[in-house]
Amino acid sequence: PCMDARKISDLGTCAGLIPSNHLLKRKQREFWWSQPYQPHTHLKSIIYKEEFVGCDQKFFIAGFRRSMRLCRRKSHLRQQHAGVCSASGCLSASGAPYEEVVRYQRRRSDKHRLIVLVGPSGVGVNELRRQLIERNPSHFQSAVPHTTRSKKSYEMDGREYHYVSKETFESLMYGHRMLEYGEYKGHLYGTSVDAVQAVLDEGKICVMDLEPQGIQIARTHELKPYVIFIKPSNISCMKQSRKNAKIITDYFVDMKFKDEDLQEMEDLAQKMETQFGQFFDHVIVNDNLQDACAQLLSAVQKAQEEPQWVPATWVS
Ligand code: 5GP
Repeated sequence: PCMDARKISDLGTCAGLIPSNHLLKRKQREFWWSQPYQPHTHLKSIIYKEEFVGCDQKFFIAGFRRSMRLCRRKSHLRQQHAGVCSASGCLSASGAPYEEVVRYQRRRSDKHRLIVLVGPSGVGVNELRRQLIERNPSHFQSAVPHTTRSKKSYEMDGREYHYVSKETFESLMYGHRMLEYGEYKGHLYGTSVDAVQAVLDEGKICVMDLEPQGIQIARTHELKPYVIFIKPSNISCMKQSRKNAKIITDYFVDMKFKDEDLQEMEDLAQKMETQFGQFFDHVIVNDNLQDACAQLLSAVQKAQEEPQWVPATWVS
């Protein structure tokens, strides 16, 4: 009964990407995908289908930049509709829900891609990063962070940290050159784009963990981040695996998770996936640290060696 819903279905048909059984429903004058529709997953799978029929060129839709909310106003909608139909390519200008993507195959001469690990606190992101680097330190490396605290006698500038003034740190922060930062005991700490670049320049794979809010700063053609979401399994699996893990590894010995903590972790993971899922290139369920580490290793290898979807702006 409403024009907007028809237009949205037209948009899907004309781009050949949104199936008719996933029409939108109207809710409080806003448009939402009908549940349990997961736009990015679905669109990716459709893109792969296209690939099978030999259209391995450019595609207009890869995922949703924002949340599942599509748009609020008719004019906004018309703009998107016109953009997709015109085959004019990239719709990734701020506010548009789509971005153009291409298949990117890393050549030998290209730098490695940054590997970003994202996940709720307690799920083992830090530990997985540590284990990955420990397995092959000549291949994997963390970036050297910046800090405003003073250097200790046994430390070396550029090894533990880059020691900088508060002014320098803040200018990096405000210039969007810090991928993440935080304050600890009155001092600033953070990881800069340049520090990541330095690892990649050495021909190594830089591995870092990030809050999901930092993904967008990292998403540049220079770093070409491959984002891996580390997700907890369901609560009963988590309880069991942590019980077993206490016996076989030191990692969980001090981690006494209460049921509320596990629930909180699961809720946070769900929120992260809803809000930032469109940026995740790969998802690993960590219900066993050793398996998760093996999966991580194989995902990292694939990210560097096999073609992956990336925003078109990264390769043009
Ligand atoms: P320390 O001064 O003892 O070397 O580090 C103290 C704390 O600074 C660490 O426990 C950690 O919480 C924080 N820290 C160290 N490096 C970084 C970083 O790169 N980013 C952020 N956000 N915090 C860091």
